[in-house]
Amino acid sequence: MSITVVGSLAYDAVKTPFGQRERMLGGAATHFALAASFFDTVRPVGPVGGDFADADLEVLRTRGTVTDDVEVIADGKTFFWAGEYGWDLNSRETLDTQLNVFETFVPKLSPAAQACDVLFLANIQPELQAQILDAVDGPAFTALDSMNLWIDIARDALVGVIERVDCLILNDAELRQLTGKPNLVAAAREILGWGPTAVVAKQGEYGAALITAASFFALPAFPLETVVDPTGAGDTFAGGFVGSVAQHLAGGVTDEVLCRAMAYGTALASFNVEEFGTERVTRLTADEIHERVSALHGFGRFTLQTPVLTGDRS
Ligand code: AMP
Repeated sequence: MSITVVGSLAYDAVKTPFGQRERMLGGAATHFALAASFFDTVRPVGPVGGDFADADLEVLRTRGTVTDDVEVIADGKTFFWAGEYGWDLNSRETLDTQLNVFETFVPKLSPAAQACDVLFLANIQPELQAQILDAVDGPAFTALDSMNLWIDIARDALVGVIERVDCLILNDAELRQLTGKPNLVAAAREILGWGPTAVVAKQGEYGAALITAASFFALPAFPLETVVDPTGAGDTFAGGFVGSVAQHLAGGVTDEVLCRAMAYGTALASFNVEEFGTERVTRLTADEIHERVSALHGFGRFTLQTPVLTGDRS
């Protein structure tokens, strides 16, 4: 089994109320790969510039991620993103986005990347996501993430790729923006009508919700007292979610598989936000993940009774 992911491999400049980093390893595919590599072999596809440090390539290779499809464009510059968070860590301002080597990138997938069982189209130009979908051999499960920038400037292309995937993973505000529907459930149902069989609405510190034709499932974010930098939380969630699905493909992608995947996504994302960028997830252990998934399992428990309510008493 293996997972191919296309998305940004980046350097980020990030400022939060708790500190800042001028230039740290980031990118949607990077955060995704670090999380998904707990479950399966991951192959990121994408370009980096000659400025991309060997040490950062080593970080990407943590837990066996295969970097054969990371193309080094020696005279180019790595994708760069800068953002700032206020006290409400759920909202951030993008200060700068430089596509750099992604602007002219034409993907050439290795046979192993083409033969993936699972494909994740992390946040990047929808046209590039479509090229990767064309290039793979027919993975058993495909999922896609995007962001407001692409809804603003490339909506038609984005809708075109969403129609071709099994699962859409998007922030709740972006789901509303994409569909023009203010109600989250209505927005998700509209997207289910376009083709995907599952929609995951990421809700920052409030958790995430899964909507399929037959079910609705929501999990709170893991309750943390220290959140330092939410950058990459969504991609780390996606890595845990998609990785967990990849591990259970044999029995089909049932609602049970998807709900368990929500717990792994939630647990992984909770570690990501504890430190800047990739710092925490790089040294994370499987035991730590299991511990948080068990705790999440416990949070959902309450005893069902049929109480006598006021209206019944009259
Ligand atoms: P998240 O916090 O999960 O939304 O992901 C943040 C990561 O996405 C950062 O590491 C950025 O490098 C990357 N990113 C930000 N803007 C874009 C964009 N327009 N296209 C692709 N990746 C981006």
